[in-house]
Amino acid sequence: MIDLYKQIQSDEKHKTSAQYERSQMTQTLRYDVMKRDHFRCVLCGRSADDGVKLHVDHIVPVAKGGKTVMSNLRTLCEDCNRGKRDKYDENGEN
Ligand SMILES: [Zn+2]
Repeated sequence: MIDLYKQIQSDEKHKTSAQYERSQMTQTLRYDVMKRDHFRCVLCGRSADDGVKLHVDHIVPVAKGGKTVMSNLRTLCEDCNRGKRDKYDENGEN
C-alpha cells in the first residue's frame, strides 16, 4: 500500500515536470535551435527550401524526463520526426 502511494506521488511529480518542460519551449528557443542546426533537418539535411516543414524535437522525450534545453533539442523535418513517432510522447509538441 505504501509502495502504491509512493508510485502515485512520483507519477504526479513526473507529470508536473513534463508540463513544466513543455512550457519552456518558446518561440525564441525554437528559433535558436533551428538556427544552431542551420535551419536543416539534422537527420536528412533537408531545409524549408526543399519543401519540408521543420520541427524542433526533444532528443530525450519530455515524457521520459528530457529537458527543454538546447542540448536536448534538435531540428527535424516532418518525415524524420514522424519516423520516430512511436518513440516519443504524442502529446508533446516535439
Ligand atoms: Zn529529415
